[in-house]
Amino acid sequence: TPVVGVLALQGDVREHLAALRAVGAEARPVRRPQELAELDGLVVPGGESTTMANLAGRFGMLEPLRAAVRAGLPAYGSCAGMIMLADTVLDAVDGQATIGGLDVTVRRNAFGRQVDSFESPVRLDGVPGPPVHAVFIRAPWVERVGPGVEVLGRVEGGPADGKIVAVRQGRLVATSFHPELTGDLRVHALFVELVREAAAGRARDHAAGGGA
Ligand code: GLN
Repeated sequence: TPVVGVLALQGDVREHLAALRAVGAEARPVRRPQELAELDGLVVPGGESTTMANLAGRFGMLEPLRAAVRAGLPAYGSCAGMIMLADTVLDAVDGQATIGGLDVTVRRNAFGRQVDSFESPVRLDGVPGPPVHAVFIRAPWVERVGPGVEVLGRVEGGPADGKIVAVRQGRLVATSFHPELTGDLRVHALFVELVREAAAGRARDHAAGGGA
């Protein structure tokens, strides 16, 4: 059973823990650097990225999180979590730090005051079946994707038509929206599958490695 941590400094930690458990992961909240070593994957929840970043700094988590992601720990960020995983943030609060790792530029609170929150069906690459019912709450969107980044989904229709709201780069996945709030577990299932594959790959390397 893959062990997936949810960064539990601020945000909708409980909902992600429940969604991860429902798709067969062992899910646990993480707050301390030493807890990262036990994880096969990490979720960065929705919430408020500026608060989360401040707390991560104060808890001595920022550098350990960056190091873990650099070392290949699979990570999924929803909404504020997407901002935390992005290399570049527009409309950031002064000096707002991120974990980074995703070669994207995101814009905070991008959908604007008129449409602070809205819901919309979004078709996602790699998620079969009907579109995901996407819930956006003061959500970011992705304004630039680097060459290694796959676009998994975009808004269809309305004033934000075509805006990128789901991306993947190797072991990193991010969505502007909050599947953890909807009961639709397909994004969590996709992520946990990726976590399983990464863990199996590590086990194979180990078996074959002999220290090489
Ligand atoms: N607006 C928040 C931020 O900038 C994100 C909102 C959310 O996670 N629902 O971090």
